[in-house]
Amino acid sequence: MTQLTAEAAREALAGARLRVLIIGAGIAGATLGALLRQRGEAGFVIERGDAHGEAGYMLGLLPLGGRVLNGLGLTDRYMAESLPMRTYELYDRRGRLARTFPLDRLVKDFGEWRGIERGALLAMLRTAAGPIRYRATMSQIVEAADGAHIQFNDGSEAIFDLVVGADGVHSSIRESLFDSREVEEFDTGWGGFVMWGPLDDPEVYSELWAPGWGVGVYPVPGRVGIFLAGRDKSISARDPHDYADEILTRLPDGRFRRLLAQRDRTEPAFYWRMADIRSKVWVRGRTLLVGDAAAGFLPTAGVGASAAMDSAAALADELSRAGTDHIPYALDLYERRQRHRVELAQKNSRNLARYMFVNSSAVALARDQAMRFYTLDRLVSDLSHVMSGTRKD
Ligand SMILES: Cc1cc2nc3c(=O)[nH]c(=O)nc-3n(C[C@H](O)[C@H](O)[C@H](O)COP(=O)(O)OP(=O)(O)OC[C@H]3O[C@@H](n4cnc5c(N)ncnc54)[C@H](O)[C@@H]3O)c2cc1C
Repeated sequence: MTQLTAEAAREALAGARLRVLIIGAGIAGATLGALLRQRGEAGFVIERGDAHGEAGYMLGLLPLGGRVLNGLGLTDRYMAESLPMRTYELYDRRGRLARTFPLDRLVKDFGEWRGIERGALLAMLRTAAGPIRYRATMSQIVEAADGAHIQFNDGSEAIFDLVVGADGVHSSIRESLFDSREVEEFDTGWGGFVMWGPLDDPEVYSELWAPGWGVGVYPVPGRVGIFLAGRDKSISARDPHDYADEILTRLPDGRFRRLLAQRDRTEPAFYWRMADIRSKVWVRGRTLLVGDAAAGFLPTAGVGASAAMDSAAALADELSRAGTDHIPYALDLYERRQRHRVELAQKNSRNLARYMFVNSSAVALARDQAMRFYTLDRLVSDLSHVMSGTRKD
C-alpha cells in the first residue's frame, strides 16, 4: 500500500529536534534540505513535480552559490558538471561586437562564475538533501499553539514547528498566507524562449540587445543554452521555432547566427515571462519564505539561483544555532541577514533589465553609446557589494 505523505513525514522527522517542512525541492529548498541534513537536523522536503520532470535551462552560478556547494562537499561534482565563464561579450543593436569584458579580476577576488544545467545542479542538491517526497503539495495550513497543522494533497495531516515556502516565484504558500499588497511585482513586459545549440566556445557568454528583441548564448557542458527574448505579448503565444527563424533573418554572420541555425529542434523550448516579485514580508508565524518565493529574479544578472542558495545557507545556519524556544528570534536574524543582500542583487538584475530590454531604436542607440564607457565593475557593482559582504544603502 502506498505510504501517505504525513506518514513519510513522521518517519523522516522521528526524533528530530525541530520538525521542518520544506515546500519545493528547487534550488533553495534542496539546498536547505541538504544543509540541514549535513548539520544533523531533519527537514522533510516535498516537491510538486516528479524526480525528473523539471523544465531545463542553463544557469550561471556566481561564487555566492559555488561557495555553498563547497560547504556541502560538492566541489568536485560541481567542477565536473559545469564550465568556467571567463569572458562576457556584448553586441550592440545592429549585432556588432561592442565590448568584451574579461572576468579575471572578479574571479580573482571572489571565485569562479560557472555555467551549469539547472537539472544537473538540482540532481546534486537533491541527492545531498536525502529522500524527497515527489508529487506532493500542501493543500491547507492552520497555525495552532502546538505547531502548523498541514494537510497534504493526499488528504493526510501532520504537525510541523516550521514551514518553509521554497516554492519559487509563483509561490502558492506566499499567495495563501500573505496579502497581495505585501508583494510588489516588476514586469519588464518581455519574455523569452530557451533552446539549445552545439557547444562552441565554452568559456564565452555572448548577448545582443536590439530594440524589442535580443539573443544570448550561455555554455554548459556539452552544449550551449540559447535565450531568445522579445516582447511578451508578441512572442508568448508563438511557435518558438518560427520566432527563432525570424530572429535568424535579423542576425549578421557570426556566433549567434551559427548557433541558432544549428539549434536542437527536438527538445521543447522553455518559455519564461520576464517579471519578478519582491515580498515585503518574509516571515509570518511559523511560515517563512526563501529563494524566489521571497524575492524572485530576472535572469539578467544570472544571480537568482546563487541568491537562493546563499539565503538557504543563512537560514540553515540560524536554525541550527537556535534553541527550540527561540525559533522566531532565529527567523528574525535570518531575515535581517539576507533581506538587504537579496534585494541589492535583485536591484542589480532589474537595472540590467532596463539596459537590455529596450523597445525604441532611439533608446537602444543611446544605450549602445553609453555602454562604450561602462566597466564591468559598474555593471555588477551591487553584486560586488553582495559578494564582499559590504552594505550599500
Ligand atoms: C530562463 C531562466 C534563466 C535563468 N538563469 C539564471 C542564471 O543564469 N543564474 C541564476 O542564478 N539564476 C537564473 N535564473 C533564476 C533561477 O532559476 C531562480 O532564481 C532559482 O531557480 C530560484 O530558486 P527557488 O528554489 O527559489 O525556486 P525554483 O528553483 O523555481 O524552485 C521552486 C520549486 O518548488 C516547486 N513547487 C512550486 N510550487 C509548489 C507547491 N505548491 N508544492 C510543492 N512544490 C512546489 C517547483 O516545482 C520547484 O521545484 C534563471 C531563471 C530562468 C527562468
